[in-house]
Amino acid sequence: MGPRQALHHTQPSTLERIDDAVLMLVDDDSLNVDMVQAHLEDAGYRHFVTTSQSREALDLIRHHRPDVVLLDLQMPVVSGLEILGAMREDPGLAGIAVLVVTASIDREQRLRALGLGATDFLQKPVDPVELVLRLRNTLEAKAWRERLARTDLLTGLPNLTAATEHLQWGLTQAQRSGRTVAVLQVAVDSFGDVQALGAGAGDALLQELGRRLQNALRAADLVASNAGESPMLASDGGEAYTVLLPQIRQGEDAVLVAQRLQRSVSLPLECAGQELTPTCSIGISLYPTDAATPSDLFALARVALNQGRRDGHAQICCYAADMNARARQKLTLMAELRRAAQRGELFLLYQAKRCVPTGALVGAEALLRWQHPQLGLVSPGEFIPLAEESDLIVEIGDWVLREAVRQLGAWKAEGLSLPRVSVNVSAKQLRGPGLLATLDDAVRQDQSLATRLCLELTEGIMLQDDQAAAGLLAALCERGVQLSLDDFGTGYSCLSYLHRLPFHELKIDRSFVTALAEGNAPLVTAIIAMGRALGFRLVAEGVETEAQLQWLREAGCDEYQGWLTSRPLTPDRFARQLASANAGGDSQSCGP
Ligand code: C2E
Ligand code: MG
Ligand code: MG
Repeated sequence: MGPRQALHHTQPSTLERIDDAVLMLVDDDSLNVDMVQAHLEDAGYRHFVTTSQSREALDLIRHHRPDVVLLDLQMPVVSGLEILGAMREDPGLAGIAVLVVTASIDREQRLRALGLGATDFLQKPVDPVELVLRLRNTLEAKAWRERLARTDLLTGLPNLTAATEHLQWGLTQAQRSGRTVAVLQVAVDSFGDVQALGAGAGDALLQELGRRLQNALRAADLVASNAGESPMLASDGGEAYTVLLPQIRQGEDAVLVAQRLQRSVSLPLECAGQELTPTCSIGISLYPTDAATPSDLFALARVALNQGRRDGHAQICCYAADMNARARQKLTLMAELRRAAQRGELFLLYQAKRCVPTGALVGAEALLRWQHPQLGLVSPGEFIPLAEESDLIVEIGDWVLREAVRQLGAWKAEGLSLPRVSVNVSAKQLRGPGLLATLDDAVRQDQSLATRLCLELTEGIMLQDDQAAAGLLAALCERGVQLSLDDFGTGYSCLSYLHRLPFHELKIDRSFVTALAEGNAPLVTAIIAMGRALGFRLVAEGVETEAQLQWLREAGCDEYQGWLTSRPLTPDRFARQLASANAGGDSQSCGP
């Protein structure tokens, strides 16, 4: 009889649940095999490899790596003792527990089996209750040994063995998904000084920092779709920790996590009666850029760590030199962006939106700009994604909303009849209650200004299927704010959202308008027909030519925006357009 079930050991094969154990039954009498298996199935076990051919037993053991072998001693051709002996000589099989099943009460034979490392005995004919109890004890002891072998006793964290397995698994996954894996080596700076404070001081520090790192890693918001892809903190048994990030988009993400870990470590604590503010340095290696195996990745992260430590304490160093430069550049830019709003380096430009049939000026999109003191004008395409990676986008978004409302108020005070002003809002701004509070605060002096606002959201918000976001959108609508779906067609459009969420406007992405001449006109026609049927105002972005505008006119698009009519302008220049439109009697209404 051959194996009954093919087994796939994909993840590290530690025994997490006892009834997940793989049991192998070897007995020359197939009736016995069937009987024992039936008893064990009754007890909840599901994974069996069975054979009544003692000759093939060893091969099956090597192939399937069961957790326990229930081994008959008296078999023809190859005896149970021979199999046991061969198993104990093979280091790869040494961890497998063997329950010897025998009808013999021969003391000599039992001693020989024990001498060869049998784990326990079962007397034939097998008593089902005893069978289940002895097997459970054997498996529990095995699970405990395995857990011990994979845990650092001081910190209770996984040890390097466990980390290596986790990393191996993570690398396999990353190879498939094409993502990056980062290995971080985190070492406490000046650990020797702490140890000099007295017995136990170093241990206490390592335990506390282990907790801090663990919490920081949990809070790092690294989504993992399965356990093998989640971050892991491990201890190397000395003064260093290893952090695995099995699913990141790019190396810079690892640097951001490293910074977060450093911040979590550097809070004061009391150690051996002294107040300390520990710091740590971190070395980073990346798969696939730096290396492809766990041992190489560990080693290179350590090289990076040591390299960083030459420059002092609290260092972060990547193995790849250009990563350091890139990461540093990015981190500097982020820090500067953080200060940009306070320093008055951010400002808004306004791009006209016009009615397709009449050409009337009906609105404007506020577009953010950053005047960097050294770099000059930085485009939002560069700094918005940077801001989105941290919570900075929320602060910046608040500023944009307030500024747009302030500008509306200023135009109103000049006596201009107000266009609808669109403000781009990032998905992250919708997560908290902050947006509504900011809006209410901004329009406190003149609530009617809210009715001149339109918020442009991207399809990203539809991915966070979120009651709270729907509630927020409804509250915005109650205040007279309009909602627009920006860049329509470029993201993961989920059409059911379109009519569940209260949008007023749909913006056809520039890429569609650009490609009109290349034969995607039917697609745009379909978008317009669908938008019309759902009652949306349709706005085309990035209209650069008269031919595009003519096509949109025939297709029944409501509004357009683009270089054909106007580049984004400073508020003053836009106000002049507005003033002449007012004088020329441009109608303020267009489309549905
Ligand atoms: P978006 O909201 O789709 O804005 C339209 C972009 O197309 C703007 O680029 C605009 O200048 C550009 N554009 C307009 N007409 C034409 C045209 O005829 N031809 C071409 N080639 N381009 C045209 P910009 O200002 O660089 O903004 C890029 C993106 O940055 C925006 O895309 C928006 O997603 C984001 N963004 C800008 N300001 C803000 C803001 O205040 N907050 C947030 N969260 N995102 C913003
Ligand atoms: Mg926009
Ligand atoms: Mg757009």
